[in-house]
Amino acid sequence: MGEHFCFVGNQELNGIVRGRSVPSARRDTVLESGLPWVPANITIGALNTLPPDNPFGPVGEIRLMPIPDAAITLTNGTTPAYDITLCEFAQSDGSAWTCCPRTALKAAIDDLETQTGLTLKVALEHEFTVRGLNTINHIAFSPSAGRVGSVLAERVLTILDKSGFTLDQFVAEYGPGQYEIAGQPAEPLQAADRTVLTLEAIRHAAADLGLQASFLPKPANDQVGNGVHVHFSLWRGHENVTVDKEWVDGDAGGFLAGILDAAKPLTFLSVTSPNSYARYKPQSWVGTYICAGLRNREAMVRIVPRQPDRNGAYPAASMEYRTSDATANVYLMLTALIRAGLDGIKADLASPKSVAQDPATLDEDTRKSMALQHLPASMDELITDDVMAHVSDWLGQDLGAAYLSCRRNDVRHAQDMDFEQLAQQLGTVY
Ligand code: GLU
Ligand code: MG
Repeated sequence: MGEHFCFVGNQELNGIVRGRSVPSARRDTVLESGLPWVPANITIGALNTLPPDNPFGPVGEIRLMPIPDAAITLTNGTTPAYDITLCEFAQSDGSAWTCCPRTALKAAIDDLETQTGLTLKVALEHEFTVRGLNTINHIAFSPSAGRVGSVLAERVLTILDKSGFTLDQFVAEYGPGQYEIAGQPAEPLQAADRTVLTLEAIRHAAADLGLQASFLPKPANDQVGNGVHVHFSLWRGHENVTVDKEWVDGDAGGFLAGILDAAKPLTFLSVTSPNSYARYKPQSWVGTYICAGLRNREAMVRIVPRQPDRNGAYPAASMEYRTSDATANVYLMLTALIRAGLDGIKADLASPKSVAQDPATLDEDTRKSMALQHLPASMDELITDDVMAHVSDWLGQDLGAAYLSCRRNDVRHAQDMDFEQLAQQLGTVY
């Protein structure tokens, strides 16, 4: 491969990958020592505006410190290659910076393990819309739609394969031009890195084919949304301790209760764009009621036992957090999930009861008796003292303040636009 450019960067607080690229001749030096970066750049909004109240202003300098193993090379055999290497946002001397999302995730993983002895495995599913495919009718889950999408899937797999990982599935989903990828289970940091790289691979491979791949949560008001479903399992050593007798108890029950208890701050950190809330419709399999349910796709957390083994254990079980989407920074999404769960274990919360029905079909009195609450219908409703206290506790004051400035910026932009305008603009970003 001849001279080409090597990009170093990562998802900032709007879930958008930003960074700098250098000629490949400089690659080794840069992988070693990083590149200078501007603190405020982690807050640039999806519409390329700096939040007026971002805490950094024009001052300061940080460093993009590359993670050499978290890299892909984009090439279609004809255009020059382009390397993407993910990084941490570090202080200028290379040490940890309080506002780095990847660093926040590492701290959450460490705390979970040291305080409970538990580790987590994560597998993320992403839905997205592909425009420009040569198809007469996108028949959901059919081989015809699968085959049409496979031109894209094959390119993506080739890119990922060269970096030593792959996908579990590539599915022709329900909506027009909608596909879904499922990542392989991995420890959370690796799952997050691979997610960022996979999404970039999909966007670039689609562009090379003259297509557009968009992960926007709600591309059109009358179409199903594009969700991100986070499957996670709790492990004690080599034992999956997520499910016992088709439900969740012990530490896993506390973890699940912690997630439901902190549903609002978790949503604030994992459902990031004003467009996201248009996806929040009951009976769209999004899981907008704050509850957990055995195999229930209208619960915020679906419990998925899968096959028991001969001893009645569930080695492949997972819980599935269903409400997030790809406008989130995936490191912060997983940080919030782990922090909420850990808080639940530490507070000794009891495992919730399974909600077996679609909550939207129950009458108001029944919902009340089951304490079933709907998630807030817009982002501004989530900017409350209680939510912000959780965010500061989980991420620290500095990162919390920077993140809040981004969300306020989003709310401000959304006020000036109707659904279609915003969806059109954000659809080319996400
Ligand atoms: N498209 C739905 C969502 O927005 C999910 C459908 C499914 O369960 O795959 O999350
Ligand atoms: Mg799906």
